[in-house]
Amino acid sequence: MHDQASRTYGCRRRPRANGALALAMMWVSVLAGSLGAAGAHATSLDPDGGGRHAIRRTAPCLSAAARLRVAARLRANVEALRRRGLLPPGRATEPAVARAVAMSWPVVGATGLTAPGVHGIGAFVDHDATYPDHLRDYSCGGRSYDVSSGYNHQGTDIFSWPFSWYRMDRDEIIVLAAAPGTIVGKDDGNYDRSCGFGSTPWNAVYVQHGDGSTAWYGHLKSGSLTTKDVGETVAAGEYLGVVGSSGSSTGPHLHLELYDSADRLVDPYSGPCNDTIGTSWWANQREYYDSAINLIAIHSAPPEFPECPEPEVPNLQDVFAPGDDAYFAAYYRDQRANESSTYTVVNAAGTEVWRWDHSSPAEYYEASYWYWMRRLPTDGVHGKWWYRVTYLGREYEHEFWVGDAPTPTPTGDVTPTPTAGGSVPSSGQGSGLTLVALMGLALAGLIRRHRGRRCVPARAAVHYRAAEM
Ligand SMILES: [Zn+2]
Repeated sequence: MHDQASRTYGCRRRPRANGALALAMMWVSVLAGSLGAAGAHATSLDPDGGGRHAIRRTAPCLSAAARLRVAARLRANVEALRRRGLLPPGRATEPAVARAVAMSWPVVGATGLTAPGVHGIGAFVDHDATYPDHLRDYSCGGRSYDVSSGYNHQGTDIFSWPFSWYRMDRDEIIVLAAAPGTIVGKDDGNYDRSCGFGSTPWNAVYVQHGDGSTAWYGHLKSGSLTTKDVGETVAAGEYLGVVGSSGSSTGPHLHLELYDSADRLVDPYSGPCNDTIGTSWWANQREYYDSAINLIAIHSAPPEFPECPEPEVPNLQDVFAPGDDAYFAAYYRDQRANESSTYTVVNAAGTEVWRWDHSSPAEYYEASYWYWMRRLPTDGVHGKWWYRVTYLGREYEHEFWVGDAPTPTPTGDVTPTPTAGGSVPSSGQGSGLTLVALMGLALAGLIRRHRGRRCVPARAAVHYRAAEM
């Protein structure tokens, strides 16, 4: 009933007239190394806006009753698939505790999204059985949640950041299979703009791995699921759906819940307070504080974050006239106190126009952003400028234009054609496919995407695997 409204939702607000061109020119690259010491000494500068982006955790991702219903249905599906010979018979030969899974990261940006990062961690599994407010994650910290009704978080919440609703409307943040396996269940067609606890079911894909363990991918966007049916296999890194907010959810995120071959809950992160596994189930387990910049961007006005589930208004812009006000922003995940960032703006002649520093004032933010307004000089050099941010030894770079902007010329149709199952060409996690190499793909994709195809049906989107750092 709500679904139709949600399908057309993203069409209500049109980006500004120059949005398409601006997005097409938004090249973000991540370059190793530091900014170099040649520049002038930077001074700390208070931002004109920003701060913490709160992730609300007020409801179980899945009620106990819903979890039981899902588990019962999956058991029935598995039995049926075994009878058809699509799954190996029984578990007698399986190890009691599976460890044949080496999971890749399941949340990435889709076609054309060149952001260096797209996610944050909202919650790990809560290993403290008491509640409420008794939290213990795999690393013995408190990055989880429980509620007074008796729920201890049973999965890993990976949220989309920034612009989660805006990007959900554009199918820009997608879920990939973390490990290969057989689809043993699918839920689709449910309302996907939840802002809190509710009894509506979620949209999800359930994949059983070769060792008998199972992954639940929940909260997906309605109508975005892989066209593959129960019983078909998926490869690691294959497209499963778009990150959404279906079911009991306070915003677009993936709830990843795992069970071993004996149907025992598994927390995939190896750590001193997780006794559900021995070795990490991640091929490359991320740091507990996975601090990074997800996006640096320039805006024509401050980005707007309306109340859930209204889509954000990013006000992205990359072409300015001399004398314009430009808002230089950076979007962080896991930003911690005393981690200094250095921001510089370099003009088309290669001259540093501005440089400033900033450190987060809080001990820790799971998601945060900051922006500074700068009036571009009225005699500013025309051409391509650079906005750079250095954070934790990594440099992030974003190009923009002052005065005349060049007309991008794509070099041909380089976007891969999806297969019937919507599979994703695998670049391999951490492979040599860098963001720099993706720029051509990204540019062509963005131009295509923003040339009037404003309201893209979920199934029509073309996905491929973008780098996620
Ligand atoms: Zn969750």
